[in-house]
Amino acid sequence: MFNSNIPEGALDKKWEEYKGHVKLVNPANKRSIEIIIIGTGLAGASAAASLGELGYKVKAFCFQDSPRRAHSIAAQGGINAAKNYQNDGDSIFRLFYDTVKGGDYRAREANVHRLAEVSANIIDQCVAQGVPFAREYGGLLSNRSFGGTQVQRTFYAAGQTGQQLLIGAYQALERQVALGNVEMYSRHEMLDVVVIDGKARGIIARNLISGELERHFGHAVLVCSGGYGNVFYLSTNAMGSNVTAAWKAHKKGAYFGNPCFTQIHPTCIPVTGDHQSKLTLMSESLRNDGRIWVPKQKDDPRRPNEIAEAERDYYLERRYPAFGNLVPRDVASRAAKERCDAGYGVGTSRQAVYLDFASAIERYGKIECRKHGIDNPTPEDIRKHGIEVVKEKYGNLFDMYAKITGEDPYSTPMRIYPAVHYTMGGLWVDYELMTNVPGLYALGEANFSDHGANRLGASALMQGLADGYFVIPYTIGSYLSNEIRTKPIPTTHEAFMVAEKAVAERLHRLKNINGTQSPESFHKRLGKIMWDKCGMARNEAGLKEAIGEIRALKAEFWKDLRVTGELSEFNPELDKAGRVADFIELGELMCEDALQRRESCGGHFREEMQTEDGEAKRDDEHFSFVAAWEYKGESAWEMHKEQLNFEVVHPSQRSYK
Ligand SMILES: Cc1cc2nc3c(=O)[nH]c(=O)nc-3n(C[C@H](O)[C@H](O)[C@H](O)COP(=O)(O)OP(=O)(O)OC[C@H]3O[C@@H](n4cnc5c(N)ncnc54)[C@H](O)[C@@H]3O)c2cc1C
Repeated sequence: MFNSNIPEGALDKKWEEYKGHVKLVNPANKRSIEIIIIGTGLAGASAAASLGELGYKVKAFCFQDSPRRAHSIAAQGGINAAKNYQNDGDSIFRLFYDTVKGGDYRAREANVHRLAEVSANIIDQCVAQGVPFAREYGGLLSNRSFGGTQVQRTFYAAGQTGQQLLIGAYQALERQVALGNVEMYSRHEMLDVVVIDGKARGIIARNLISGELERHFGHAVLVCSGGYGNVFYLSTNAMGSNVTAAWKAHKKGAYFGNPCFTQIHPTCIPVTGDHQSKLTLMSESLRNDGRIWVPKQKDDPRRPNEIAEAERDYYLERRYPAFGNLVPRDVASRAAKERCDAGYGVGTSRQAVYLDFASAIERYGKIECRKHGIDNPTPEDIRKHGIEVVKEKYGNLFDMYAKITGEDPYSTPMRIYPAVHYTMGGLWVDYELMTNVPGLYALGEANFSDHGANRLGASALMQGLADGYFVIPYTIGSYLSNEIRTKPIPTTHEAFMVAEKAVAERLHRLKNINGTQSPESFHKRLGKIMWDKCGMARNEAGLKEAIGEIRALKAEFWKDLRVTGELSEFNPELDKAGRVADFIELGELMCEDALQRRESCGGHFREEMQTEDGEAKRDDEHFSFVAAWEYKGESAWEMHKEQLNFEVVHPSQRSYK
């Protein structure tokens, strides 16, 4: 059985009480305890730096050539924290409440409250590291709004927040590397977890340069390997993001939580054809100032600037007046799909809506003209000054859009459409971030924890850094304090040998199929099945079909895959083949999970479950649980339920109207 280990007591006292009573490991003992960390994105780098600083012996692994290339570097928009710098009514409770509600009441209250509590510390920590957050004229940190909230609590560094935060975490990590507390293994891929007497005791990793397999012991293993949105092939994730580390942990006994919970982001550059392997996000921060609309007339052939104001449908402002363009991502994505499916889409594919900055340019322009003492400004004056403001706020995003589409977003509205962006599902963890396998932890996007069925914008960076800087340094002591007598287990132990042999055999098998199709081609086909049948809208018949199609794809993969290059050399094709094999298995589990969840929650629209006006209809009576899937062998899983108890926030039909 598994236990979420939520501490007793009032919600707002749990973490404080926990910290006051959790067992500690004394400094001398820490020096003889080894911790393996898979991943050096924001979650892994912050954990490695913090645990190294505490005195543990840490080994950190990443598959890139440098920790600085983790996918976290791509994060654009910002990071949330309940600092209430704007004096606009924010508080720890409000951040907690917004997150639980935004997640459509499918997250664990205790974890979310803790996240809100530590959020303010993250900003202080990062400022102390020198992260250049945007500031107001007077020097105070600046904030903007993200979806699903009515306060401004998002801290940002232009459109490069992830990059700046990662440089901060990387510096802290490198300091520990220099001090000898952390050993860094870049270009290494973890390919299995070693479990001895039911506890995680190490990993098998492949040196991606030489192809050699290595065995590493650890008293504990932390999986911080990011999300698995690339199961859909096309997503906004970095090309290398994959599920392999989490999947290997799952196959070694760790439950997978809510695998079908995927976030579809409403503001991405639309797909333009069959040739793409990557989609580009236009940050949610753009919805602070951009207005989303489609023509009121179906299949309108006119250019956007030829369509008069009265002929435009600002459908988010119309349907959701309280939150307007800042409704949460799931609501905005579904609304865009609904308009396009109804025939109001724009662009050549008709699978896009407009994101328009004309009003913002005019509004800011007028303010700036007043500031500059320009009386009776001309439309050109207003436009010039307005563009300057918009450029300062979002310039790098506008440049990126212009480079990709060849259009100037300062004068023509951007075209956007929803795309896969983030995975709320992941390894199931308890309050201490430990999976059900003792000694095996999951942090950051790799775990299922805090976002329920829909993550609010700017909350992933918050969660990854909360997990790494502020949660795991406490909670890991609870386990390791009982491990101080465990001597390092030699990697000649049988369990290491068996695990290494299984990894080697699988690599040989992949290499020796000698078929005709590339890993990429299988990945693309898997992505299409997942997007069409387990994407924004799903139904029972489609999901059943998808499961059959994925099984057939898997059989074909293991018969007709072609991997070029050799086993004992740098071979990205082989790396990709292993990752696609894992994605295929995960895809099947995602469809199983979506099939059992006969409710619409978050962005997961079960077509059978909708209100009369087409809104998602949750079923709290039957589905207020986390689905934790246990691996039982090929294409076989058993689902366990972690019932969600809401003591403070009472689930209601979400309304942003
Ligand atoms: C385009 C884009 C913009 C975003 N913007 C924002 C934003 O503004 N605000 C926000 O809050 N969130 C944002 N997000 C989400 C956020 O960036 C991610 O959720 C977060 O960065 C994930 O961090 P992580 O540390 O969990 O994983 P990652 O940063 O993905 O790091 C994973 C690490 O694991 C390693 N790894 C993986 N598998 C293995 C293996 N088998 N062996 C060894 N190493 C392995 C990798 O090498 C890497 O070091 C954005 C996401 C995208 C796609």
